Amino acid sequence: MIKSELQQNEDVRNLSYDELVKYCEGMGEKAFRATQILEWIYEKNAWSFDEMSNLSQPLREKLKQDLILQRNSIAQKQISEDGTTKFLFDLYDHEKVESVLIPTEKRTTACISTQAGCKFGCKFCASGIGGWKRNLTCAEIVTQVLHVKEEALKHKRPLTNIVFMGTGENFDNYDNLMKAIRIINSDKGINIGARHITISTVGVVPKIKELAQEGLQVELAISLHGYDNPSRNVLMPVNKKYPFDELIAACREYVRLTKRQITFEYILIKDVTCTENAVQALKKAFRGIICKMNLIPYNPVSEFDHKTPSKEEMLKFKNSLEASGIHATIRTPRGKDVNAACGQLRHKHLEK
Ligand code: SF4
Repeated sequence: MIKSELQQNEDVRNLSYDELVKYCEGMGEKAFRATQILEWIYEKNAWSFDEMSNLSQPLREKLKQDLILQRNSIAQKQISEDGTTKFLFDLYDHEKVESVLIPTEKRTTACISTQAGCKFGCKFCASGIGGWKRNLTCAEIVTQVLHVKEEALKHKRPLTNIVFMGTGENFDNYDNLMKAIRIINSDKGINIGARHITISTVGVVPKIKELAQEGLQVELAISLHGYDNPSRNVLMPVNKKYPFDELIAACREYVRLTKRQITFEYILIKDVTCTENAVQALKKAFRGIICKMNLIPYNPVSEFDHKTPSKEEMLKFKNSLEASGIHATIRTPRGKDVNAACGQLRHKHLEK
């Protein structure tokens, strides 16, 4: 990307390695300068061009004129008793986005947002309540990862995993997401293995098909939350556009083309999704799909009237799935004391 092709106020984290090489060469600099700049940003966690001490002063000045590199401002930061740390970032236009650092015994995960607000309006999620505001840029996605990585390193924990499960429907911002993933995955970027990156979707069928063609070894998680059209319609308006059978067919095709396992996310709501009928329907639907299920106890949001099943009810549901040959785990809710479920911190902030 040469200088004249840059947007006004272009953030350097919007540029791929190839684009930065083109920019450097366009200014009469050698290509290796691009590598040095990216090393400062993604390996050494630099937040300004002034820190890049192996670049000449005139080059640093040119970079400062053409490109932006700065921290997000943090509107709120909450640390849970279990170490889960939640950030609410204030973007340049005062839109707010959430990111979460989730440390567990084996891994350190960043949960990242791709949109400010969300238009999909799932009936268990705080993110959709205020509606959709805008898509995040590639740089805004990557910068959340850099902040979470920095926080993790303060606790001497290298960042190992990324999950795109924050605010927004990821496939509604497909191009920026893919560019950000390539930067996160690249050895000239944040260098996190593709198999350690999970993209979650509510089931935007055309994009599931597109992802199958990308040749990326990322993990795909489908927010299923229903076992047929009527049960899915209760929670997920997107089911009207992409009905249950169409979604399951796209998943089957995805597994056939990529040979990769799919994770189905499934919220356990008392008397709605946590029933024996559901087990039988899921068993039939998943025939021929390599998959596992993540069972998520419903995390109450004041606007919705659903209830969390008892521990016994949840365990019975899981055992019943396992007996039907479907591998399932009940996820432990993390950071309950810091509103760590999707969109809750942002929603509480907007309410105020
Ligand atoms: S679950 Fe995801 S897609 Fe649904 S409203 Fe929340 S952020 Fe949007």
